Parts: sequence; structure tokens; C-alpha cells
Amino acid sequence: MIDFLIVGHGLAGSALAHMLLKCGQRVVVLDDKSPHSASKVAAGLINPLIGPKFNAPLHAKDCLTESQRFFRSIEKETGTSLYGEFLLHRVFVSEKQRDLWLEKSKAPVFRRYARSVERRKACEKLGLVAPLGAGTQLANRLDFPLFLKLSENMLRQAGCWQEGIFEETDWKEAKKIVFCEGYRVMRNPWFGHLPFSPAQGEILLMETGLSVAASNGTWIVPEKKDRCLAGSTWKHDDLESGPTENGKNKILENLPIPNADTPVIIEHRSGIRPGTRDRSPIMGKHRENARMFLFNGFGSRGAATVPFYSKHMLDFMIGEIPLPKEADLKRFEKNEPLSR
Ligand SMILES: Cc1cc2nc3c(=O)[nH]c(=O)nc-3n(C[C@H](O)[C@H](O)[C@H](O)COP(=O)(O)OP(=O)(O)OC[C@H]3O[C@@H](n4cnc5c(N)ncnc54)[C@H](O)[C@@H]3O)c2cc1C
Repeated sequence: MIDFLIVGHGLAGSALAHMLLKCGQRVVVLDDKSPHSASKVAAGLINPLIGPKFNAPLHAKDCLTESQRFFRSIEKETGTSLYGEFLLHRVFVSEKQRDLWLEKSKAPVFRRYARSVERRKACEKLGLVAPLGAGTQLANRLDFPLFLKLSENMLRQAGCWQEGIFEETDWKEAKKIVFCEGYRVMRNPWFGHLPFSPAQGEILLMETGLSVAASNGTWIVPEKKDRCLAGSTWKHDDLESGPTENGKNKILENLPIPNADTPVIIEHRSGIRPGTRDRSPIMGKHRENARMFLFNGFGSRGAATVPFYSKHMLDFMIGEIPLPKEADLKRFEKNEPLSR
């Protein structure tokens, strides 16, 4: 008998599995290595001032604290560096946006992350095209591919890993089954009817000597020597199309660097973000089948939000402590037909 079967080893399934194991639960993680998994391609940016309006998202401070705590604990356990802090140049795209930054800089919450305002000339010296200047802010970054690799090794060593696709009849000995399937939840017979809104995204690994990170909506961050990662695109149709010429061109056209159309592309990746229509995660227990659980909907911000919500999910599954209301799947249950 096992306590939990976790279906899906993306960021959501892996973080939840490690937290459950730390609590002494018997866990198996099952994954079928989907080519479209979001976690395999994610850049791992953790930005506390999101979007063109630089808003701090819900639970921003707690999410950052939990994210740091969780990934640092994996770093300690494995002796590997996974999680770093960097300075991000937010290239202003309009005067209105620059004024908004200056206005927001008066608030202590904003100043926790915001650092300075740089003029056009200073940006140019760094290799950035920023006619209206840029605000600088602290951000974090998780090495997603390395985390997934370490996590898989840890689970294999603990005898908790299995490769394959989920079939209900194979798992009679699992007391609880938690679906962490990313965008593939839409085919799930218990939870697939919920209002998910997945979005395909593409990123490029390219050769460029840029040594600072910047974003004007399209971001570019230095990787190892003379390489940068840049992205990303966003579309809700033709999800499984893989990397496209159109996606590549969109990224290159918008980058805040000179001659953005000429860098050498080393790799072009795509994945599908498990988004939701109200942009909050969707998690909880099936209302008729008490064995079936859902942990999904982390959209484009999994590195910041997954550890925070994993902790809540664990408290809910083990201690029956209610989930945060904005993420509880009960918010959709009022008029909804039963799925199975
Ligand atoms: C281009 C792009 C850039 C991104 N950049 C960032 C970023 O900078 N910062 C950030 O925080 N987030 C970023 N994200 C979002 C981030 O990737 C997601 O929030 C996160 O990875 C979601 O993880 P998940 O585990 O829910 O889903 P996934 O990573 O998709 O994992 C789902 C897993 O479940 C497995 N699976 C599914 N169904 C089954 C089944 N029936 N049986 C067995 N296995 C199954 C799949 O094989 C897969 O491994 C980005 C996403 C994309 C696409």
C-alpha cells in the first residue's frame, strides 16, 4: 500500500512529492515524459513585480519565502546550486510606464525589490536598447532542468519513481491519487471539465555577449558565457505545434537589444503552460471520489507559487486544513455537473 500516487513529475508533482516524503508519507511519482511539459522548457524567472504595471501578485512575499526555503533545502541536500538572485532591467515601453515606476517607487513594498532608474545612455553602455530608460529590480531564478534532474535522481534512489502513463486499474494500492498533469489535465476524467486555459510558449537559447538581464515584455537573461535565453511567446491555439518560425520571429522582433534579428540560435524550445481562466491555481479533492486530488493551474509562475501552494496542499491532504479560497477547486462547484 502507498499513501500517495503523484501523477506527473513537472515542478508541481515533484515539489509536492518531496514535501510529502519529508513528512514520512509513502509516495510514488509516475511520469510519462511528455514532450510538451512546461517545466522542461521554463526559464525559471521569479519576478515579484509582474506585468506592464509592475504589480506584486497575491501572497507575493509568502510565495517568495516558501520558494526560497524549498529550493534552498534541495540545494543543501544535493550540494548543488539551483537558485540565484539577479538584477533585472525593466525597459520602459512608454512614458506612462516610466511615470508609473517612479510613482510606485515611493511605496516601501515596491522599494523592497526596485533598485534604481537608469537613463538611455547608461542602458546603451550595457548593450540595451532603452530610449526611455529602465528601472532595475531584484529577481530570482530557478534552474528548472537541473531541479527536475536532481528530483528524479532523488526519487529513483528512494525507490519512489515510476515511468509510464496513468491507468486507474494499475493503482488499486494507492490510498490517494494526486493529478499534477500540467496542461494534460484537460483529458482527465475527474477534473478535465474545470476552466483551464493552457498557453503554448516558446523560448530561444542564443549566442550573444549581453551580460545583463532585461525585459520590455520580452525578456533576455544571460546563461553561461556568451549565451542568453530569451522569450517568451503566448498562444492559446494549436498548442502541440512545437517550436514555430512565427514564435521565433516574435521573440527576435521584440528583444530590447540592437540587431536582435541576427543572433545565432542554438536551441529553440516550446512547452505548454497549465493556465486557468481566472489565473489562479486549481487544487483540491474530487467531490464524489475522495481518493482523487488535483494540483494544477500554475500558469507562467510555477517557480514562485508551487512551493507555497504545495505546503497548503499537503496540510489539506494530511491535516484537512482548508485550502486558500482563490485556489480551491470548490470555487467552481456551484453549478457544475459531475464529471464521473
Ligand atoms: C515557454 C515557457 C516559459 C516559462 N517560463 C517560466 C519562468 O520563467 N518562470 C516560471 O516560474 N514559470 C515559467 N513557466 C511556467 C512553468 O513552466 C509552469 O508554471 C510549471 O512548470 C508547471 O508545472 P506542472 O508540474 O504543473 O506542469 P508540467 O511541467 O507540464 O508537468 C506535467 C508532467 O505531468 C506528466 N503527465 C501528464 N499527464 C500524465 C499522465 N496521465 N500520466 C503520467 N504522466 C503525466 C507530463 O509528462 C509532465 O512531466 C514557463 C512555461 C513555458 C511554457
